[in-house]
Amino acid sequence: MLLHTIKEVREKRQEWKGLKVGLVPTMGALHAGHLSLIKKAKETCDKVIVSVFVNPIQFGPAEDFDKYPRTLEKDYELCTKEGVDIVFAPSPNEMYGAGQKLSNDTLTYVCPPFFYVNKLCGKTRTGHFDGVCTVVLKLFNIAQPDFAFFGQKDAQQAVIIKKMVKDLNVPVEVIQCPIVREESGLALSSRNKYLTEEGRKEALVLSKILNNIKSCYKKGITDIDALKETAYGFLNEKHDLEYLEILNKNTLEEQEKADDDSIALIACRVENVRLIDNMYLGG
Ligand code: AMP
Repeated sequence: MLLHTIKEVREKRQEWKGLKVGLVPTMGALHAGHLSLIKKAKETCDKVIVSVFVNPIQFGPAEDFDKYPRTLEKDYELCTKEGVDIVFAPSPNEMYGAGQKLSNDTLTYVCPPFFYVNKLCGKTRTGHFDGVCTVVLKLFNIAQPDFAFFGQKDAQQAVIIKKMVKDLNVPVEVIQCPIVREESGLALSSRNKYLTEEGRKEALVLSKILNNIKSCYKKGITDIDALKETAYGFLNEKHDLEYLEILNKNTLEEQEKADDDSIALIACRVENVRLIDNMYLGG
């Protein structure tokens, strides 16, 4: 069932008293990565809600909010095939109120701690994680799920959401699901749609760098700078590297040496499309 209003979702949730409800928050343009979250939710829960909402307050002024792919009809079809109970696709007015100025002058925001935000994607995407936490907490309050499903693809986001849930005593269990990749190694992303055929090939640089770091770690290299330096052999003028970091996967803290709790994270522009990827070094 496709619902657009908070009231309708609340009413359905009331009917589902006593059942295990799962929420999969998305921005739509669903691909196999999203579907893996939905499948996990179906396995874990009695009822599954997928939200499809391109959240204006998590995009910076120079980012791709307007051109972000919107494919609700197809998304709804895919969700129906997966047995999703509710696709919740609100408008920005429904979520934030008609006429509401979307700024932290006038709107209550959830602001995750600076330590988690002032690195990786948060460094260049000012306010992004405030927007993410705000909308996710709103979705939690609207859908009141028992479980919520997030992808490791957005590793910093998953850590920050878990921290928000812990710090604010939100009664939701966060389940993190592994990254789904194309056979080529390219992590699935709605933004891959912006790439040309040539760009998709160039975009393999992210997973190649991460795989190489992992195999160097497995061979015994634990010096973080040495591991990061192995990336340079893969980069050329078609790749605009934004960051490459190796951190603790749970806390995003810097480490003296890489270990089995390390995660390598990369952001790189290809054809001016900002792509992110990451890989656990242990396991
Ligand atoms: P988005 O629609 O980009 O906001 O993503 C919605 C959810 O799907 C987030 O929790 C993402 O981490 C997750 N996701 C996106 N791409 C992938 C992928 N390739 N594999 C697994 N999860 C993903």
